[in-house]
Amino acid sequence: MNLLDKLKLLFGARAGGDPNALWLYVKCARCGAPLAVRVDLRNELSVDYDNGGYVLHKEMMDGKCFTLMHARVRFDNRRSIVEQTVEKGAFITREEYEAMTNSKIPNPNN
Ligand SMILES: [Zn+2]
Repeated sequence: MNLLDKLKLLFGARAGGDPNALWLYVKCARCGAPLAVRVDLRNELSVDYDNGGYVLHKEMMDGKCFTLMHARVRFDNRRSIVEQTVEKGAFITREEYEAMTNSKIPNPNN
């Protein structure tokens, strides 16, 4: 499996619901608390003049140790993710998030 396939898996929760909603799942590097953050693809992406496509900067704070994490995600012109990094945290899959929070997300896009 190449990196792009892994990214598609990570962010595969885009089908159905609002097509402009994207969920990012991360966990805090310090305490391991999982976090789900909704991104509005219409309003939150900026044009990336340096690299082409779009870029998203997202700050999020976990509710346990209140570490502020800063995610940076790059998208191509079709708004598919091409690169992602998060400071003070790590990306996890939706399945991992559900397992860690012991919950099912009924409709991940709302
Ligand atoms: Zn934390």
